[in-house]
Amino acid sequence: MKLDVDVLRYLSREDFRVLTAVEMGMRNHEIVPSVLIDRIASLKHGGTYKVLKNLLKHKLLHHDASKYDGFRLTYLGYDFLAIKTMVNRGVFTAVGRQIGVGKESDIFEVSREDGTIMAMKLHRLGRTSFRAVKSKRDYLRHRNNYNWLYLSRLAALKEYAFMKALEEHGFPVPNAVDCNRHCVVMSLVQGYPLVQVKELQNPEVVFETILGLIVRLAEHGLIHCDFNEFNIMIDDDEKVTMIDFPQMVSVSHRNAEMYFDRDVECIYKFFGKRFKMTFEEHDDNVDVSEVDTDESSRPSFSSVNKTAGFLDKELAASGFTRKEQDEIERFIEGDIEDDAGGEGEGTEDNGHESELNQTTIKDLDSLKLEQEKTTSSHNEEDRIGESQQTSNVSQSRESENASDREEESEDVNDAQLVKSLTKQRRRAIAAASRGRKNYASRNSYKDKGGKSSHNSKIQKQLNSW
Ligand code: ADP
Ligand code: MG
Repeated sequence: MKLDVDVLRYLSREDFRVLTAVEMGMRNHEIVPSVLIDRIASLKHGGTYKVLKNLLKHKLLHHDASKYDGFRLTYLGYDFLAIKTMVNRGVFTAVGRQIGVGKESDIFEVSREDGTIMAMKLHRLGRTSFRAVKSKRDYLRHRNNYNWLYLSRLAALKEYAFMKALEEHGFPVPNAVDCNRHCVVMSLVQGYPLVQVKELQNPEVVFETILGLIVRLAEHGLIHCDFNEFNIMIDDDEKVTMIDFPQMVSVSHRNAEMYFDRDVECIYKFFGKRFKMTFEEHDDNVDVSEVDTDESSRPSFSSVNKTAGFLDKELAASGFTRKEQDEIERFIEGDIEDDAGGEGEGTEDNGHESELNQTTIKDLDSLKLEQEKTTSSHNEEDRIGESQQTSNVSQSRESENASDREEESEDVNDAQLVKSLTKQRRRAIAAASRGRKNYASRNSYKDKGGKSSHNSKIQKQLNSW
């Protein structure tokens, strides 16, 4: 995916304000109504239409008028929000060349002011399995905006949390630097993915080291689940670094043994084929404990001394909760079960851009910012719903720490959200049935927030760009 960060320079604060407004709206809408965007962004002198047009031109938004006039973020739009946040935080100052295209990610070099180069991974969950995201919506009924945006963010958070925890336990992983939205910044690994290595000085040593890592991970309660030549980096001194963690599961997972065996098998197969190594396999029918096992015998899941949950505390410390772990596991599970041990890595679909970025300039002709009074296609209940969703967006802000405000639409407690939404909905319907004009006026966002701190917090966030 082309990431033309030059555009970043030409984007104004108002552009980011509107982009953020679309992101916030996407919490409750797959396509965010233009009216809602205008209301959330509440630009001082109007002008949302012009900004939307600009964002559309740069392919940061996708326009959709099939059901109503609305927009959604494209991957690029989401990338820019994350990159801008990282730059604002001082994590890096420039984005360089693309160094990797993974199955569900794009990896770029980024550099600090002092010239240090790091790696930035932008997660694209649902890219190769976009259809899968759709079909899996069924079990995600409780959260109908459970889309690529949310899934990619979860994947990034999980990767960051695991990388950090693994690093703290002495595993050879990149240094986890920071995480925002679907973006993880980490140290750049010197070397190459094992798949590109044709020759090794000491294939046996590397082989043993890698198998040792699988075992040590299991001892710490974890299975990588995608441990193969694409996710193992090796440098000139044949030092191994493992990468790519969003699909890791606990050893208490119901399919743990299968995943463990598959990781082991991948390594055996690769080293056998690439480095012509031969292995003396033990007889499966013989109890392993009775055999004098030497170093080269195949690790078995049952013989590993596992301590499930060992890393839980560290993971939680990075903000990755049990609930999120379960959610992403359920989503990824289908994929890792279908996957033949990562052999699909080399065949990623590079046509993904078209899926989310199809808007042409022609669409601009049909782009209109509907005014509140002309939304005749919306019945009153729709408008009530809309105003609830708007205040819902503002309400969730209250729970956020001011220092996290640039993360904006990230950390929402779903249960609370649903509860407050239901409450507001009931109240609004009751008010409407009493004949009171309850739906939001163009400025309701502002008006409502006037007395509480909602509005000022959002304004602060929007102004912080
Ligand atoms: P995916 O989850 O999409 O498979 P990976 O994390 O495996 O993504 O990264 C894809 C490729 O990008 C890797 O095979 C590797 O070549 C490169 N890469 C990823 N992380 C780093 C890093 N920290 N340093 C250097 N290269 C990296
Ligand atoms: Mg990978």
